[in-house]
Amino acid sequence: MAKYETLSCLRDIRAKELENKKVLVRVDFNVPLDDNLQVRDDTRIVAALDTIKYLLSSNCTIILMSHLGRPKGEIVDKLRLDPVARYLEKLLQIKITKLNDCVGEAVEKTVSESKPGEVILLENLRFHEEEEKNNIDFAKKIAALADIYINDAFGAAHRAHASTAGVTEYLPSYAGLLIEKEVNSLDKLLLDPEKPFISIIGGAKVSGKIEVLEKLVKICDVLLIGGGMAYTFLAAKGYEVGKSILEKDYIEYVKKINNEAEAKNKEVVIPVDSLVAKEFKEDAESFNVPVEQIEPDMIGMDIGENTINLFKEKISNAKTIFWNGPLGVFEMEKFSRGTNQIAQKIADLGNKSFSVVGGGDSIAAINKFGLADRISHISTGGGASLEYLGGKKLPGLEALKK
Ligand code: AMP
Repeated sequence: MAKYETLSCLRDIRAKELENKKVLVRVDFNVPLDDNLQVRDDTRIVAALDTIKYLLSSNCTIILMSHLGRPKGEIVDKLRLDPVARYLEKLLQIKITKLNDCVGEAVEKTVSESKPGEVILLENLRFHEEEEKNNIDFAKKIAALADIYINDAFGAAHRAHASTAGVTEYLPSYAGLLIEKEVNSLDKLLLDPEKPFISIIGGAKVSGKIEVLEKLVKICDVLLIGGGMAYTFLAAKGYEVGKSILEKDYIEYVKKINNEAEAKNKEVVIPVDSLVAKEFKEDAESFNVPVEQIEPDMIGMDIGENTINLFKEKISNAKTIFWNGPLGVFEMEKFSRGTNQIAQKIADLGNKSFSVVGGGDSIAAINKFGLADRISHISTGGGASLEYLGGKKLPGLEALKK
């Protein structure tokens, strides 16, 4: 794949002499754990392997650090990174030294005594409130552990935290191979998409995806709108949406998007039918109705059959695809069909199109059916990829620029 503008601005670890160095790597091991504290989805761990293997081949001491969940500055035992360490051990087939903190004397001692080729995983950074506050002293302490810093946590690159921003003030800082891959894929969408470029945007609300909708309407040929946000788009066209999720304050904004699309000869496709229910629950009775017939007491839970077919037909021509957000309340099996069918359709295109999928829910749908290897790029950062596409500067990336 060609390298694009932003990527060429980032400091490249391959340009740095790494042999025998101590390298501090910010990874994104914020993975879902099940009730038995086992890793439920390893996408983010697997995505970090390229950089880790590269550093092992350069005989570095690797000090990995990550957050997990939202402990809010307190020690929360079920958010310790031990399950991740064990998982990584299996993947790499080498011992991982997991520490019980990320700063302090014991950590400093273990790191200073470590040898090239060793891999150390620090404890959850967010057990210290200083991490999210981008505290200078905390950033200095983690920086003091190593000679070089690499950020490979694309999923946290939109946050200015001590481990993504502050630390870069105190160590030579480089972009990891995953960040490179993420930025390159998103830059391809922004700068060089093969046409037709089709985006599928779902999820709960319009308000969460404003910048990206504004950008996509400029760069895509077709925008397919599903999920909860579709009901605000339907309301903007004058449809009754019953008790479906509706953001009245965003109706005018949606009209603006529609006008812009029309002026630029782009298509914004909204559902023609909906799977509705009287109650927001799994076992609620459901009905597939045309959007003109959503009754006042009904909740739109998923896109309907005709919409699935319409979206599939549009997707079948795509040369470039971006998908973020489920098309219905996919956590409930009964209302997951739209999301699953669209996931399957995107995967079916295989290498006939360049496809990028971002956002935890969309990735979960892709993984559920084992479709990941038929997607060109699965972004490990839902929020970060939306902000990047929307044109925001990501603090974690800005700090890695030459
Ligand atoms: P987001 O994080 O904005 O991508 O939103 C994801 C959430 O949107 C998921 O938890 C879905 O259950 C929810 N969602 C999708 N479709 C609907 C819908 N029709 N009504 C309510 N919530 C929805």
